[in-house]
Amino acid sequence: MNQRPNSLHASDIAHSMHPYTNMRAHEEKGPMIITRGDGARVFDDQGKEYIEALAGLWSVAVGFSETRLADAAYEQLKKLPYYHSFAHKAHEPSIRLAEKLAEMTPEGLNRVFFTNSGSEANDTVIKMAWFLNNGLGRPEKKKFLARNKGYHGITIASGSLTGLPSNHKDFDLPAIPVTHLTTPHYWRCANEGESEVAFTARLLKELEDTILAEGPETIAGFIGEPVMGAGGVMTPPVGYWPGVAEICAKYDILLVADEVINGFGRTGAPFGCQKYGFTPDILVTSKQLTSSYMPLAAIVVNDKVYNAIADNTAKLGTFGHGFTGSGHPVACAVGLENLAIIEENDLMGNAARLEPMFQDGLRKFADHPLVGEVRGVGLIAGVEMTKDRATKTAFEPAGAMATKVVALCAEEGLIVRNVYETVAFCPPLIVTEDDVAEILARFGRAMDKALDWAK
Ligand code: PLP
Repeated sequence: MNQRPNSLHASDIAHSMHPYTNMRAHEEKGPMIITRGDGARVFDDQGKEYIEALAGLWSVAVGFSETRLADAAYEQLKKLPYYHSFAHKAHEPSIRLAEKLAEMTPEGLNRVFFTNSGSEANDTVIKMAWFLNNGLGRPEKKKFLARNKGYHGITIASGSLTGLPSNHKDFDLPAIPVTHLTTPHYWRCANEGESEVAFTARLLKELEDTILAEGPETIAGFIGEPVMGAGGVMTPPVGYWPGVAEICAKYDILLVADEVINGFGRTGAPFGCQKYGFTPDILVTSKQLTSSYMPLAAIVVNDKVYNAIADNTAKLGTFGHGFTGSGHPVACAVGLENLAIIEENDLMGNAARLEPMFQDGLRKFADHPLVGEVRGVGLIAGVEMTKDRATKTAFEPAGAMATKVVALCAEEGLIVRNVYETVAFCPPLIVTEDDVAEILARFGRAMDKALDWAK
């Protein structure tokens, strides 16, 4: 990409600090400026068209041109552009959205707390767990269990739950007591000759052994994404989640389903916990909640969690936590309209219907010489590049091949993203059969070019 003086490119290079970016490389390369969207497609400032096969950041369910969301935002801005919900204040959009989320989420999850982002939501979950355990007179019950390669955000506490090296290195994280357990990824983490069932049993034993070694009275919660997303799209091994739920219940450990990516149909079921047969105490959602047209996240908790928190607020006089933007009326109005569109157009059903075409189409690349494993469920998938499939040896330096593939995909008009060696797919829920066919065709051309490049 060229630097163009006196242009947006030059200004970006001069003044912007980009998240998740090698800033020195950016000074050379400059930005890819996206100027508009149309359905599942976006266009750059040169007019080039791309299928957005990561839905922005795993988030734009209804596509990039839904005027109903623009109208919902405008109407709310005219009526009541801002109000908060501190100290008994309330407004209709947040009341209605909380009611809707209690209705949509699994039985037993009834109370909603809003934040602006998934990271803030997971920070809030940690604080809720600490607050309620202090209230219950068990101040030592504070530690969290998470998994290597889990992604739960980047703030100091949520970033501590995240189990990825680049989110920790030189940020002095983890900064709260967290133990990261083995990634539930059969292909990468199973021992030689270990069956999937035996792998699950080993992970559950690791979980229980860890709880017993640390002391159940010190562990507040277990957090995990039903399907791991930003760590490389890993679906859980058979029986994993019901097993985790059983162990958490046995030791009175709060089970937190981080459904920031999974929620609202991504896996083919409304929520990932339903797909994998467990009910959490706390469910965290964001992203597809508003299709990311507005920043919003929601924590939905069961009565046990709510009552313990509520009792402590009665003792202390308040819940001393909340953001200026918690339950922002414009974000909530957009969320309500977005969920209405998802339901009216059966977009969750669309994900389930397109799953075979999408997943089978990608699995055809499992034999490609650069590919180690193809995995996924619903409309989320990962294609892991490996130098040698038999030995699962990665390319060096780490991520180099997947980064190349992503660049070649962009040349072909396909936006995907790599997480280390895995190329991730997570297209908008509105995609059609034609869109899926086009995603597969463009990816195929990029993979052919990658093979030529690797020779
Ligand atoms: N949890 C999960 C599972 C996520 O995928 C993400 C973001 O990708 C987050 C939390 C953090 O959300 P945010 O980027 O809104 O802080």
